[in-house]
Amino acid sequence: MWFAAAILVPCTALLYLGVRLLGQEGEITRQRAREVLQSRVENLRRDMQASLEPVRLAPGVPDGVAFHGKVRDGKVSLAWEVQPAVEQVRRALSDSIFQALLRGVSAEITVPPSGAAGDFLALQRAVSLERAGQTEAAAAFFARVAAKPAAVTDDYGVPLALYAIPRLPAGRLGPALAGAIESILATPHVLSPTGLRMAVSLAQEHGGGSAVARLKIPLENAKAAEQFQAAYASAGGASSLRWQSFGDPPFIVGFASTPAPGEFTFRAVRATDIASSSPIRPLFSLAEGQSLGEPFPGLRAVLPELNQDATPRQRPFVLGVLAIAFSMAFLGSLLWRRDFRREAQLSSLRTQFVAGVSHELRTPLTAIRMFIEALHDNPELDVATRQEYLTTMLRESERLSRLVENVLEFSRIERNRQTYQLRPVSLPSVIQSVLSSMQPLFEQSGVQLESAIAADLPSVQADPDALGQALANLLGNAMKFSGKVREIRVEARREGANVLIRVVDKGIGIPPREQQRIFDSFYRARVPENNSIQGAGLGLTLVRHVMRGHHGDVAVESQPGRGSTFTLMLPIPAGEQAP
Ligand code: ADP
Repeated sequence: MWFAAAILVPCTALLYLGVRLLGQEGEITRQRAREVLQSRVENLRRDMQASLEPVRLAPGVPDGVAFHGKVRDGKVSLAWEVQPAVEQVRRALSDSIFQALLRGVSAEITVPPSGAAGDFLALQRAVSLERAGQTEAAAAFFARVAAKPAAVTDDYGVPLALYAIPRLPAGRLGPALAGAIESILATPHVLSPTGLRMAVSLAQEHGGGSAVARLKIPLENAKAAEQFQAAYASAGGASSLRWQSFGDPPFIVGFASTPAPGEFTFRAVRATDIASSSPIRPLFSLAEGQSLGEPFPGLRAVLPELNQDATPRQRPFVLGVLAIAFSMAFLGSLLWRRDFRREAQLSSLRTQFVAGVSHELRTPLTAIRMFIEALHDNPELDVATRQEYLTTMLRESERLSRLVENVLEFSRIERNRQTYQLRPVSLPSVIQSVLSSMQPLFEQSGVQLESAIAADLPSVQADPDALGQALANLLGNAMKFSGKVREIRVEARREGANVLIRVVDKGIGIPPREQQRIFDSFYRARVPENNSIQGAGLGLTLVRHVMRGHHGDVAVESQPGRGSTFTLMLPIPAGEQAP
């Protein structure tokens, strides 16, 4: 519970902080993006205004104007409708003499009409001559009209040249058409959409793709001009605005007043054409995008994405820091948890130790005291009974001193005070002395002891007391854990460069997973039998310490229910090794 809290609390706090930080970061980024967008729109509007004002106010019609015209008394006249040729031809057509000339009634006149009206008449003549079969005379007229510039139109704004060119002989048709198209592109506003459509169809028939493509924009502009005219009329007249937008893609139409009252001029530009000079290069529309506001009501621009990353720049950094902090908190909590557990384990082991040692002390003490009292209270006891009492007391006091020895030695080890006085020792005598001191114990516990000490054991470097205590601990354990089959065997023999001393029992055995841990301080195997067998978990810790202090070691082999074999290994000194 505490451990979970120790991990969860800092991690949750970090997570909360991280999410908040990222949230704020995201909000700041979005805010920054809004500001950037606003300033881009502002810049675009300023750029557009700067390039459009001169278009609106320039004395002549500047380049880049898609269409233009006049508004007089609320009525829109497009440029081609008011261009001189159209007006001239219209005027001529309402004149009776001109009509007579056209019909060919009066072929002879003193002053032939000049300008567009004259050319109109020439064209008419050529057609009549052609019908009359006078092809040559007709050709001369057609050739004259075909060379006229685009601004020489009929009353519908169709260049007269376009009527003449198809009637030219094949060799002259092509160059004449090319010249006419150049002239149209140089003065596109003087042509009506009908005129432009005628040019396009002639180009399709005789000119070729590139000419058609070059006429595309002027034709679109002319159509837009007519739409604007219709829309203006249906909207009910002049607007007070200086700029209006219409069409898709949008055109921007700018108005300017003239000295004549009630008269305006207007000039229309394609929105994309203005923007082509701006570094922003937006797409214009009336339906979507950022509203440009005054002075371009209704006009919207879709700005291209900036090349900068949409994700907040600090996000990877924040995420990195969070990940590090998170893992540190997690790791810290885990370490703390481990420490905490180890501490708890140790404290529980100490408690077990105190309980175990006290119990182990009390049992022999109680026995000794009981027999002393018996001897004291019964001075008349027979010799045999006295002897038996004294033997038991001796055995119990030996057990007591072994335990006290273990505890003292453990405390010396813990304080790093334990040192071993190694000297050449004869192993059989050490083993024999332990066995004989424990003999009464074995007998009392009904243990059958068998020993096999090899005759050729070399002398080893050892501290005989410590080594004896290690062996006594193993024998004591073999006895304690021997269960029903109370047979213990002690073997000692040389094997390679070592002497091995084995204590083999046929007792309860040790589960495999416990076999390494039984050498840890205070550790007692978790088997049910251990509940009824006294112990402090120190014996094997001391055995291992002693053996390592002798440059040797201790090992265990065991099968639960079948018994255990503990082996003490001692290195044979170089001088003692078998040849
Ligand atoms: P103690 O005997 O006081 O419990 P030890 O350090 O001597 O402490 O032994 C640790 C544990 O190893 C014992 O509690 C026991 O579970 C196990 N053990 C030691 N020797 C034997 C053995 N011969 N047979 C079965 N288990 C043993």
